[in-house]
Amino acid sequence: MYEDFCKKCGSCCKRIKVDFEGKTLYFDGIQILTPDFASMLTPLDSEGEITYCRCKFLEGNLCTNSNKPDICMNYPSSPFAFIPEDCGFSGEIFLKKEAEMRKIRKLKEEIINYEAMIKVSPNKGEQNRLQKIINSHKARIERLKNYGALDW
Ligand code: SF4
Ligand code: SF4
Repeated sequence: MYEDFCKKCGSCCKRIKVDFEGKTLYFDGIQILTPDFASMLTPLDSEGEITYCRCKFLEGNLCTNSNKPDICMNYPSSPFAFIPEDCGFSGEIFLKKEAEMRKIRKLKEEIINYEAMIKVSPNKGEQNRLQKIINSHKARIERLKNYGALDW
């Protein structure tokens, strides 16, 4: 059952990380910054290509947007959601991220095993089968590289 850990502190809407130039939003994971979402933001300060923004719909700690985008309705749904330190979901997101990292480490172990098996297998068909699995594992790891998956 979904548990609502939200403390209604509004912190997640006070310093939203955005790369306007690269059209990238660091919110519920790394996402494309849509023009609609960008129009809700007031830039506060910048660090290199990153601009920290406050949402215009935040009043006090409450959202006043009656037509909230899905990304806000679902936040934080990703194991890689960007959450403030004091967010009530920090424990849950930590555990979800750890689980993803464990999966990636397991894939890397399997890649090492399959590569070793390919070297000793005399069967070309078997080698191809293992290589396909390796390629699929590598593609999965690659998809998470922006979250640091290459170093897990
Ligand atoms: S920072 Fe976390 S606890 Fe606070 S409003 Fe956002 S989701 Fe809720
Ligand atoms: S629309 Fe509401 S929930 Fe979404 S960023 Fe703005 S204040 Fe936060």
